[in-house]
Amino acid sequence: MSDLTLIYEGKAKTLYQGPASDEIFIYFKDDTTAFNGEKKEIITQKGEINFQISRLIFKYLEKNGVKTHYLKPVDERTILAKKLDIIPVEFVIRNIAAGSVLKRIPVKQGFEFKSPIIEYFYKSDEMGDPMINPYHIEACNLCSMENLMTITEKTFRVNHLLKSLFDKCGIILVDFKLEFGIDSQNNIMLGDEISPDSCRLWDKVTKEVLDKDVFRKGNGNIVDKYKKVLERLQEELNDKSQSLC
Ligand code: UDP
Repeated sequence: MSDLTLIYEGKAKTLYQGPASDEIFIYFKDDTTAFNGEKKEIITQKGEINFQISRLIFKYLEKNGVKTHYLKPVDERTILAKKLDIIPVEFVIRNIAAGSVLKRIPVKQGFEFKSPIIEYFYKSDEMGDPMINPYHIEACNLCSMENLMTITEKTFRVNHLLKSLFDKCGIILVDFKLEFGIDSQNNIMLGDEISPDSCRLWDKVTKEVLDKDVFRKGNGNIVDKYKKVLERLQEELNDKSQSLC
């Protein structure tokens, strides 16, 4: 990757210019961060596993009619993707209560919501990703109301598809975060990654935590947990194209 043009270095991924002007290479790093970058560690193999999980999930979503930035794998931790103008909003869906929502509403961890909740957060490390609502989003020109409604609908559709996929893997999809952007043809596309770094995933039977909360809380090695997620997805989606070392 050293001879490529760097576009952006993020906390867990690095973006390089792709072969066409509207394409990028996304390189999944082993860097793991939490609490807005306050806790940091390099965890060997994490990038490779998240690359494989994201690749499988994006392929599954594309198969089910969700337009994503994913084009193809390049090596064991890089994908080629469409370049998007990313909307600076994180779209979070919650099926089960966990994490930051527990500070806002009177329910206990593990409470199953009657219907999924969507929340919007302004993407800003400086401001600590504050929660915002559709009026903030439109009034501050972060995204048009029309696009926001389209994305909200897509986010619920992704939740429906992922909940059912993870359920077949014996995993509860507790919550997750999506990012969307606009491509050079003005299409709204799902971007970023979908992995245990951006989802809460619990084993259906044992309730074992299989996501980044293990790192956030210092409860062990995330690689073992992420591997379990990958192996179950590979089995369910019948994909053994990249086996784990
Ligand atoms: N999330 C994320 N990136 C962020 C914030 C949250 O991927 O910058 C994911 C997180 O992993 C979880 C969901 O979004 O699956 C909801 O996160 P929450 O608002 O509960 O924040 P947290 O407790 O993770 O700080």
